[in-house]
Amino acid sequence: MPGRRIEIAGVVQGVGFRPWVARLARAEGLAGSVYNHAAGVTIEATGPAEALDRFVARLRSEAPAAARIERIEQRSAELEAVGFAIAPSAAGARRVSVAPDRATCADCLAEMRDPGARRHRYAFTNCTACGPRFTIATDVPWDRAHTTMAAFALCADCAAEYRDEADRRYHAEPIACPACGPSLALLDVHGRPIAAADPIAVAAEELRRGGIVAVKGLGGFHLACDAGDEGAVRRLRERKRREARPLAVMVRDLDEAAALAALGPEERALLGGAERPIVLCARKADAPLAPSVAPDTNLVGLLLPYTPLHHLLLAAVERPLVMTSGNRSDEPIAVDDGEAVDRLAGIADRFLVHDRPIAARCDDSVARVIGGAPTVLRRARGWVPRAIPLPAPVEAPILGCGAQLKNTFCLAAGDQAVLGPHVGDLDRLEAFEAYGEAIDRLERFLGVRAVVVAHDLHPDFLSTRYAHTRGGTLVPVQHHHAHAAAALAEHRIEQAIALCWDGSGLGPDGAIWGGEALLVTAAAAERIATFHPVPLAGGEQAIREPWRVALALLDEAFPSAPVEALLPGIDPRAIERVRAVLAAGIAAPASHGAGRFFDAAGALILGMHRARFEGQVAMALESAAAPAVHAALPWTLRDDVLPWRIDLRPAFRALAAAKLAGASPGALAARWHETLVAVGAAVVRRARAAFGPLPAVASGGCFQNARLAGGIHDALGGGLLLHREVPPGDGGIALGQVVVAAAAIARGGG
Ligand code: ZN
Ligand code: ZN
Ligand code: FE
Repeated sequence: MPGRRIEIAGVVQGVGFRPWVARLARAEGLAGSVYNHAAGVTIEATGPAEALDRFVARLRSEAPAAARIERIEQRSAELEAVGFAIAPSAAGARRVSVAPDRATCADCLAEMRDPGARRHRYAFTNCTACGPRFTIATDVPWDRAHTTMAAFALCADCAAEYRDEADRRYHAEPIACPACGPSLALLDVHGRPIAAADPIAVAAEELRRGGIVAVKGLGGFHLACDAGDEGAVRRLRERKRREARPLAVMVRDLDEAAALAALGPEERALLGGAERPIVLCARKADAPLAPSVAPDTNLVGLLLPYTPLHHLLLAAVERPLVMTSGNRSDEPIAVDDGEAVDRLAGIADRFLVHDRPIAARCDDSVARVIGGAPTVLRRARGWVPRAIPLPAPVEAPILGCGAQLKNTFCLAAGDQAVLGPHVGDLDRLEAFEAYGEAIDRLERFLGVRAVVVAHDLHPDFLSTRYAHTRGGTLVPVQHHHAHAAAALAEHRIEQAIALCWDGSGLGPDGAIWGGEALLVTAAAAERIATFHPVPLAGGEQAIREPWRVALALLDEAFPSAPVEALLPGIDPRAIERVRAVLAAGIAAPASHGAGRFFDAAGALILGMHRARFEGQVAMALESAAAPAVHAALPWTLRDDVLPWRIDLRPAFRALAAAKLAGASPGALAARWHETLVAVGAAVVRRARAAFGPLPAVASGGCFQNARLAGGIHDALGGGLLLHREVPPGDGGIALGQVVVAAAAIARGGG
């Protein structure tokens, strides 16, 4: 029989796509089959030509909300078929058949709100378009038996829905209802059950009284408190030992979000999207939020409820809630009830839990609108394990181990790469264990064991040590080459001029890099420009105390500067000690890192002499920058040497003079940003003149700064490709490592 073979690429697996295709085909009276394979979904269909045309048109226009079709190709084929079937997946399909978790859909919400419905107020309502996926999967393929729902036998009503092709829960693996599914419980501070007819109402009451409640979410526990209650927020910070980092706030809906922050259409789309990340938004001056929620910044991280439990809790408590990951500072998020009670004892007053186990730790993702479009800053729930297509299939499975802080890993097999969930800073044993477990799990899901292992050049990173425990072919990858290669892969380009600006990364010369412009392909990176370096007096200590960097710059740039007036509050004896270290030139490694210059500018402009976490000072500086000031400070670029030298000392000299003349911090912070914008744009233009009209990409933690990244993007007329699906910071490094290693293996190196 004449028919067609239709190839579909995109997000088409684990989203109820094949059952939907089967329904559509049968509705059009077609025969044939649909199946998954490594590159997507293939449909073989026969029937009248008009019906086939209609079918293909409807594939495009009516696809399920969770699916994302990137490409449909069709050609004629001779087929034999009776009826329309879902065929088994093609052999050798090395791809994760599990989809990312998705926020509760509108249909399920409506059902939960309907007093006559079976699932009225049911906290585990889900369907094929929404609900838990990656966080409850214990194995592959995606099937209820391989989820933490396996222990819950379906009741007759749920089983009927599951089997009914016309039902929106047809083959919804985590399907549940009050008769057969998980249920909620409330525990006291010792983990003992508290009798409560409605645990949500009791938890809400505790929150309204200023209490702290640990809430079991999708990928781990949250700690919740009233976001408008300064006493409660301070208590949470003290107990959690989280001094300064901003806390995320969950709001009931977009209206409540709009009361707290200025939302553009992109922020609204991100907040309401199925991935449901924390979205960094511009906080309104009169937002009724406790000051301790997000000190030092005019941004606030907002998120909307993404599980039925969150919806019910937010509706009951009727106010925004701080929702921060359930851990002590820097530990991985807690997942088991027992583990949570142990580790969160002394922090939480109550535990709102349930009996559906969490199979995988997965933090909330964080996103921000930069240069007019969303960028994922922390990639975890909602994105993992969505695959990133590679330009060519890898010859053997490759693991990228990542870096150290805010780490992720990446596993490449076939023509796809999968970034693992954010596991946090690898300097803690708990985080390191969680990292190894997450790698094992993803390798199992993909059915591969990586034989090529790519790692950072830094010998002391725990990710590098992990690489050495693995064996196989080890491929060391320079940090900024990896940043740039991640951008190449994301934008599907082969060669680019890459601005790689971050805090630090080891260069092949043993120096600390981080203010680099590279002429880059996956195979090679040439350093074409860098910042004139600054010595870090005391090494790591200069990162925690940015005034040390400011002092080094001022002494070089402005020898007669009245340092005591420019760095008020710093003990003169400490200044002399640091000067002695700088003069001796030992314990003062030179750094090219753009992040260090931001720190130094923050110390000078804002008087922030200490950083409690990486990026704190730069974040405050961005917040302080006056929107209407656009004049840059002086700087120079020497291009008679390669790499070209960008010298920011004139900018520091001008900053110091302006500060002494009484300029406002807001104006100076703005001028600092405009300076770095001018530097970035000038380097790209000059590199294009020298090396040809190549695309330009930006990567590195500095490009989480929207004024900087968006500014260079605008200055180049939109000609700077920013990260979107891959984090610009070290959370994107692992993808670049894989790409560089693949190129090394392909040319027989490695
Ligand atoms: Zn749903
Ligand atoms: Zn049921
Ligand atoms: Fe980096």
